[in-house]
Amino acid sequence: MFDLEKIRQDFPVLGERVYGRKLAYLDNAATTQKPLAVIDKEREIYEKCNSNIHRGVHKLSNLCTEMYESARERVRSFVKAKSASEIIFTSGTTASVNLVAYSFSEKYLKPGDEILVSESEHHSNLVPWQQICFRKGAKIRMLPFDEEGCLRIDLLDELLNERTKLLAVAQVSNVLGTVNPLDTIVKIAHRHGVPVFVDGAQGVQHADIDLVASDFDFYAFSGHKIYGPTGIGVLYGKERLLEELPPWQYGGDMVSSVSFAETRFAELPLKFEAGTANYVGATALGEALDYLDKLGRDKIHAREMELNDYAFTALSKVPGIRIFGTAKDKTGIASFLLDGVHPADAGEILDKMGIAVRVGQLCAEPVMRHYGINGLVRASWVFYNTYSEIDALIEGLDKVRKMVLD
Ligand code: PLP
Repeated sequence: MFDLEKIRQDFPVLGERVYGRKLAYLDNAATTQKPLAVIDKEREIYEKCNSNIHRGVHKLSNLCTEMYESARERVRSFVKAKSASEIIFTSGTTASVNLVAYSFSEKYLKPGDEILVSESEHHSNLVPWQQICFRKGAKIRMLPFDEEGCLRIDLLDELLNERTKLLAVAQVSNVLGTVNPLDTIVKIAHRHGVPVFVDGAQGVQHADIDLVASDFDFYAFSGHKIYGPTGIGVLYGKERLLEELPPWQYGGDMVSSVSFAETRFAELPLKFEAGTANYVGATALGEALDYLDKLGRDKIHAREMELNDYAFTALSKVPGIRIFGTAKDKTGIASFLLDGVHPADAGEILDKMGIAVRVGQLCAEPVMRHYGINGLVRASWVFYNTYSEIDALIEGLDKVRKMVLD
């Protein structure tokens, strides 16, 4: 069964006090807390075997290389990719998007081509595509969302055409919490012969992922949002596509032979991993994935759905609240405004009560523009959060209203 008290002990930060009050950490969409298994693994590596990978002949180097490559296999099995060659370690989702944006545009993007990006993307899955379009004389087009925060997939057939080279879309919006209907989106895009880049930064930690069945062409996520360390992330690409793309960074470890006349690049996946890799982060990420599998991903999902019901029911009763993103299929993300209250004021008052939320534009200015607002408050919860933390948020909002409006 789901022993919440025991689970919370695995995450030391959750027991902290801030300003003398119990911490209610409700900023999980920004980053998740780390279980001891992850923290201990990093410490263990630095204490027992730290050594640079892939190039050493000595015992420690071989150990770290083995750990790094097992982590790659661990990620492969977690996302059910066909081959470990399709798993590239990066520093995070942003780096993964930039890698594909740069490399893909070098190979395929010509003046007049188009890239279609959804309106609800995090800047990380928008700005890289926009900038390569500017550089190549291509055009970035927008797939809009409706008032509930659902993508207008009814417009997809119209927006995709023979000039479209790629569609970039998030699995889950970091503002609206909407779980996008990727099955349908991918099918439509593929019918037009357009590959799909899926930003899984807010999705991978909440749902089982099967990259073979889902048929995404590219998929990216960040370790720190799935209970792993910062500075490590993943890019998945179908092998055939990755084979065709040129490297985007050059240096050690991504080459097979170098002379002043020419350089031959290493095979996948190393072709895309220039320089010393984050072998410690990758290995600790593997621990995070093990941790989730041990807890049981279906149990995690069920628990998060219970919290969703509880939290959204409670939030909807807060006087003067407007919730942005009311799709049926949502993760534990509530972005909202309180009538007459600036989000920054709300964030600051909640903080003093020990409640950690996010405020501002949430790295998604086009979403703010859609609604004609300057910012939001975002509370985001995951399986380790409690009903009493949600209650604390509701009480906190009551206090915010009293302090600002009375
Ligand atoms: N995409 C989405 C949907 C996000 O929520 C985030 C981070 O909040 C990112 C991309 C960027 O992730 P990172 O900063 O780990 O690269």
